[in-house]
Amino acid sequence: MKNVNHVITTFKESIFATLTNLAREHNAINLSQGFPDFDGPDWVIQNAKDAIAQGAQGSNQYAPLQGILSLRQVLSKIYKRHYDLNYCEHTEVTITNGATEAIFSSILALINPGDEVIIFEPFYDSYVASIKLAGGIPVPVTLHGPRFNYQTDKLSEAFNDKTKLIILNSPHNPTGKVFNTSELEEISKLCISHDTFCLSDEVYEFLTFNSNVHQPMATFPKMKERTITISSTGKTFGVTGWKIGWTMASPEITYAIRMVHQFNTFCVNHPLQIAIAKSLQELDEYLILFKKSYTKKRDLFFSGLEELGYLPIKPQGTYFIMCPIANKTKLKDVDYCMELIKKKGVATIPPSSFYMLSNDGENYLRFCFAKKDETLKTALLKLK
Ligand code: PMP
Ligand code: GLN
Repeated sequence: MKNVNHVITTFKESIFATLTNLAREHNAINLSQGFPDFDGPDWVIQNAKDAIAQGAQGSNQYAPLQGILSLRQVLSKIYKRHYDLNYCEHTEVTITNGATEAIFSSILALINPGDEVIIFEPFYDSYVASIKLAGGIPVPVTLHGPRFNYQTDKLSEAFNDKTKLIILNSPHNPTGKVFNTSELEEISKLCISHDTFCLSDEVYEFLTFNSNVHQPMATFPKMKERTITISSTGKTFGVTGWKIGWTMASPEITYAIRMVHQFNTFCVNHPLQIAIAKSLQELDEYLILFKKSYTKKRDLFFSGLEELGYLPIKPQGTYFIMCPIANKTKLKDVDYCMELIKKKGVATIPPSSFYMLSNDGENYLRFCFAKKDETLKTALLKLK
């Protein structure tokens, strides 16, 4: 028998799936994979029920491949209102199966074998897999703790004639870093001088704390035409299982993305697109409560970890906390994570699998605080 695709043989089960399974097996509180242990808002769920009930109008049949018009329209209005970005709902917005498919389709749409793609590490795991499947070469640049800044010389050295794309993720999973204006400016200048595309993964765009402000890369001068902005509603509405995501990009790039999307999934869950289009109309009011609730969870869990003698790094955004472990154990991340599951009944993510270059990940655990307050309090008690 011949072998399967040789790229696939280098892939392993995602750390998120592994840890959620381990949490279940050991009956541990799951602070590993990033998803809430509470449901999305009632009115959002009701919108989905209503959409399924409209089956006679076709809501339970295939959606258009680029996504339903009402969702593309509402997104176009949100980008204008929040960021003063103009995206044409007809030629520049595409609805995808979560941000994960948006990332995959964009990378396949842009990358030819041998093209180099710069990624910041720690990285979201699907970036490297998608780059490799496209035949591209990931080129990591490390964000070193505790502030997770990149070194300017290392970033500029990573660019060369083969660089086609840089992937940026701000607010950043797993570090909680929100890239600041001068960093974004510097990255944008490198993109322009090296004629490089930028895939800007902004799935945590509305999860920023205190004075930290999310700035889409596309708002920087001359960046809109070379940036693919990606987001999704999994985090914002707390419905990670719905997998409604999107890309915002120039008509030329959008066409290429749609061609990949067409022959991969063709289209996205129709009734849930209707539900999200309707729910996004209430976005601004909803975000006030959303931010308040997550700020409270962050503060509760952060100070709880401090009281236990940990030295957590305060996230500027996202629903993750990176926590150094050296003052608590001599073990590396994977072994300490296993010890916490087995002895304390709390599951976290060992971040070393998010690095290619550096061993930094061995010195941290990632905690997800998108959980009920009572879950966070119980986890803190168990960690004592
Ligand atoms: N990018 C980042 C940085 C993420 O953390 C995630 C998952 N939580 C995704 C993309 C994928 O998002 P989705 O669930 O919408 O596919
Ligand atoms: N983004 C989620 C996390 O970082 C996981 C998503 C997944 O399991 N693919 O935990």
